[in-house]
Amino acid sequence: MNNKLSERIINVTPSATLEMAAKARELRASGKNIIGLSLGEPDFNTPDYIKEAAIQAIKDGYNSYTPVDGYVELKDAIITKFKRDNDLTYGPSQIVVSTGAKQALYNIAQVVLNKGDEVVLPCPYWVSYSDIVKLADGVPVEVATSIDSDFKMTPQQLEAAITPKTKMLWYSSPCNPSGSIYSKEELRALADVLKKYPQIIVVSDEIYEHINYGVTAHASMAAFEDMFDRTVTVNGVAKAFAMTGWRIGYIGAPAYIARACNKLQGQVTSGANCIAQRAVITALLEPPSRITYMVDEFKKRRKLILELLNDIDGFKCNEPEGAFYVYPDITAFFGKTLNGTTINNASDFSMYLLETANVATVTGDAFGNGNCIRISYAAAEKELREAVSRIKGVL
Ligand SMILES: *Cc1c(COP(=O)(O)O)cnc(C)c1O
Repeated sequence: MNNKLSERIINVTPSATLEMAAKARELRASGKNIIGLSLGEPDFNTPDYIKEAAIQAIKDGYNSYTPVDGYVELKDAIITKFKRDNDLTYGPSQIVVSTGAKQALYNIAQVVLNKGDEVVLPCPYWVSYSDIVKLADGVPVEVATSIDSDFKMTPQQLEAAITPKTKMLWYSSPCNPSGSIYSKEELRALADVLKKYPQIIVVSDEIYEHINYGVTAHASMAAFEDMFDRTVTVNGVAKAFAMTGWRIGYIGAPAYIARACNKLQGQVTSGANCIAQRAVITALLEPPSRITYMVDEFKKRRKLILELLNDIDGFKCNEPEGAFYVYPDITAFFGKTLNGTTINNASDFSMYLLETANVATVTGDAFGNGNCIRISYAAAEKELREAVSRIKGVL
């Protein structure tokens, strides 16, 4: 069968987070009581004022194809948002609305990379980056970080990773999976390295911008004057507005990149869903303070899960400053045999937790760092308590 498929798709790794979710569903269907802490999805409902905007859009007869790069009114709302939250001044020709931030990232790789071009990925990185790069014939260049540097790449590490083939640097801040946030000063130090390499384009994935616990302020690479013309700012509504299924993401980019993404999208998906686009106009134009109730709740759960996990011998946790994941180092368990199962790596550990404690997590290998596992705390407090208690029980 396989020999009829392209090498391109055979070489793609399935999304580990979606795979774990599927496995958990399967076990649930067979009667097991699985607690799912693997998926990166808020457990909140989309706020009512956003739902109302979608209902109104249906009633108002929004049902036709939209412009490929998004409704003019939505692009205006995105321009307003970039100015208000990030002090970024984009024009309409620099904005493209896509079917989720995921498609925005895919577009960028497709329009910027030639075969063999290298993309620097500080590890841990978001699960899909490396496969999106590979699908565009690019070469991911992983830069290892550890819990001791709060999972952040230093300017020296960036410099060392750059070769004549380096075309892009991709990162997310706040980071999925580590929750780390690059401060303005840290970004400036990375930008100073990039000064010497004008061919390198930066992709700054800021989808967790609003899920920030107030330690390090959000900063955008494009806000530096010398970086604006070579940075693509990626954002979306999935996480902060609890709108994962609505599938709207967007970019602010140099106009030539935006034009190319528009051209690609025009041959692949056309414009994103019309009703969702109308709802996102409201989501973005309303003040971000309307969603802080969710951030406050995540903050409480973060405190809880850190307390609970730090109480387990062998778990070494960073203190995430944003997003809704913890990324504990679990190397203390490597080489141990627990209830007859030998743990050699993070995948073994995550599988052991699933099969023995009935708790779904994601192996750190999926994010380019095999010393850790990712645990999402976008779940109810009761579930978090039960999950960690089960984990403790089987360790
Ligand atoms: C969830 C996520 C995305 C994808 O967002 P969608 O809008 O759902 O496609 C992109 N980047 C990061 C870091 C994410 O966590």
